[in-house]
Amino acid sequence: MREGSGSDKLPPGLYVVATPIGNLGDLSPRAENMLGRCDLLACEDTRVTGKLLERFAVSAKMLSYREENERALANTLADKIAAGGAIALVSDAGTPTVSDPGFRVIRECRRRNLPVYPVPGPSAAIAALSASGLPTNAFLFLGFPPPRSAARKNLLRTWKEFAGTVIFYESCHRIIPFVSEALEELGADRTVALGRELTKLHENWYVGQLAAVAENLAQGQARGEYVFLVAPAGFFL
Ligand code: SAM
Repeated sequence: MREGSGSDKLPPGLYVVATPIGNLGDLSPRAENMLGRCDLLACEDTRVTGKLLERFAVSAKMLSYREENERALANTLADKIAAGGAIALVSDAGTPTVSDPGFRVIRECRRRNLPVYPVPGPSAAIAALSASGLPTNAFLFLGFPPPRSAARKNLLRTWKEFAGTVIFYESCHRIIPFVSEALEELGADRTVALGRELTKLHENWYVGQLAAVAENLAQGQARGEYVFLVAPAGFFL
């Protein structure tokens, strides 16, 4: 794609732009440039994206595109692209559509054969995997586990024998129960990594066998955002 540079108008299309998961230094120069050159910026929360734009002194017309209205807006956004518009899609943090809204508008563009371009950058899953020390040759991303304990245990049982690293997202409200369910289902010896607040001031890691990781986690207070990674059975650091 010839996207030009500087302040030229962007060619029509949907630009799927990754933004930082914490450290603002992780916004790529290309992403910054796209945000400033699009005709419309579809974002989850205009206040969150507004702060990012302010920090980079970029101005853009914003439209809130969230889980609740994404079905209705997918067609409208695709219409704008068909009429020659360049729309940038961002989420509050990380890569749009990865446990975040955006899938429906991308699918609509693909159905209509409209151009969709990735502007890659941070994603918590890949950031965590890359620094975990767990196998990276094969991995499975399962996003947020379901809210009910029985369903979470069932999910853990289903993927227990997967021959690669399994990656989950979890919030501070559920990480302690989820790790203790993993201990129950996968056993004390399973190697895991838990990355918290990656790229932020209070980033920290628990890496080792499940029994020790669960015990360490239970000793502190769960705060912030977590990525939980489970190594294949039989893998030890
Ligand atoms: N689209 C984002 C991405 O590409 O990573 C993920 C959005 S999802 C709504 C938010 C979840 O991602 C959090 O609950 C947490 O599990 C994970 N996450 C996001 N930022 C993180 C960070 N800095 N450290 C650890 N986990 C993070």
